[in-house]
Amino acid sequence: MPAAAPAPLLFRFDNSYARELPGTHVPWKPAQVPAPRLLFLNTALAAELGLDAQALAAPEGVAVLAGNAVPPGAEPIAQAYAGHQFGSFSPQLGDGRALLLGEVLDAQGRRRDIAFKGSGRTPFSRGGDGKAAVGPMLREVLVGEAMHALGIPTTRALAVAATGEPVVREEVLPGAVLTRVAASHLRVGTFEFFAARQDIARLAQLADYAIARHDPDLAGTPGRHLALLERVGQRQARLVAQWMNVGFIHGVMNTDNMALSGETIDYGPCAFMDAYDPGTVFSSIDRQGRYAYGNQPAIAQWNLARLAEALLPLIAGQRGDDDEPADAALQEAAQQATAVLQAWPAAFEAALLRGQRAKLGLADAQDGDAQLAGDWLDLLQAQQVDFTLGWRRLADAAAGDLAPLRALFADAAPLQAWLDRWQARAAHRAVPAADRAAGMRRASPWLVPRNHRVEEALRAAWQHDDLGPFERLREALRDPWTERPEAAVYAEPAASEVAAGYRTFCGT
Ligand code: AMP
Ligand code: MG
Repeated sequence: MPAAAPAPLLFRFDNSYARELPGTHVPWKPAQVPAPRLLFLNTALAAELGLDAQALAAPEGVAVLAGNAVPPGAEPIAQAYAGHQFGSFSPQLGDGRALLLGEVLDAQGRRRDIAFKGSGRTPFSRGGDGKAAVGPMLREVLVGEAMHALGIPTTRALAVAATGEPVVREEVLPGAVLTRVAASHLRVGTFEFFAARQDIARLAQLADYAIARHDPDLAGTPGRHLALLERVGQRQARLVAQWMNVGFIHGVMNTDNMALSGETIDYGPCAFMDAYDPGTVFSSIDRQGRYAYGNQPAIAQWNLARLAEALLPLIAGQRGDDDEPADAALQEAAQQATAVLQAWPAAFEAALLRGQRAKLGLADAQDGDAQLAGDWLDLLQAQQVDFTLGWRRLADAAAGDLAPLRALFADAAPLQAWLDRWQARAAHRAVPAADRAAGMRRASPWLVPRNHRVEEALRAAWQHDDLGPFERLREALRDPWTERPEAAVYAEPAASEVAAGYRTFCGT
């Protein structure tokens, strides 16, 4: 018999989490699946990671991407984490249907996690089957890649492989494994896990690991744990401001779904808003509207408070189980952490306003700008104007073409009154109209993954095995900024009766 060909070296792994953080994860293997088939491969991302896309698409590569073969150098682990879900604490969640295969250094030397989602049961699966369905994994591709094209920090999809295995949900669905790339999978909930167990030694190791990975300039400094909280807060302020400025609703901002890296993570019941309404909720599991569009900043701050609590012993100077800090040290730590949290809304508002000024075409900062932006949003809400198109057509108005904007408003008078204020506000700067409009168009996308188009593409894929609509939509979303006739169908909002009834399901 000829010797088996050596397994191709698909990834050059360097697995710091597995190596440096014993006791925070469980070594595990992905489940075998009957019929691997590649549905999606992100060749641009593969190139960025220094991977051979052709080798990944070959049968040996697809076997890896479906979980049937563990590639050389991988050390698959299920990570432990806890989390506040819809406000209540679960001390043990963890990777119930995910595995961290390992880490690679990308072409720019950045460390990136390569992880599976839907690769079978793990010791953290609780009642779940550990599986994922084709539709929700392709949704993660569409929305995540759209976020990336919009310039919003996000985990990314490298591949989706169909497994040939049915997954039982409300209906029987085709199964899939997603390969996800992330700056790390450190979550607020990872810290909560060890804090809740009062395992301070591991908590301290985890914090130093997070600092080395995301804020290396803080490594070894005496105030690094408070500074870590501040940095995570800054990243979240910028991230959530970006979400708000494109109308993105994450849908399930549990603390286990907030990454220390500042990337958007865990695309489940997420969606983009159509008509502007801060109360918008799409998620079928968010019955109280906790994660409504307008609540996202407050929830981010709430989640940061959970991170602060978890870090408190470290901020107070504790490093292990035998050096419990004095009450005075704990009190001081609490005061310092509280000050960081109290400063957060202003940081968020500043990030939001920076984005809004760009969207309004304001080259400088003036006191009334937040009011001007707020009144614009009130106007969109009162007249149920599509968020994306409203902003985009405002750029046309800046270029002197008012008709497309007016067409979105049923009542012309309040719009005109606001436009007069806006024009007066910008008048002191002699920016040519075309330049101003171009700048606004770089801040307000023409295309977002509209819910009805996403649903249509996913249904064609999982129900009819037709990946055409998915591929065309993904291709269109690669450039969300340039208006072009061939992509115009993706820019149109759904009929309002479709939008009103839209629900997303987290696809667990
Ligand atoms: P998520 O809502 O996707 O953020 O997941 C929350 C928790 O539930 C995590 O611990 C997941 O690993 C776990 N989980 C979600 N779906 C499944 C599933 N089908 N099987 C096992 N665990 C799951
Ligand atoms: Mg999650």
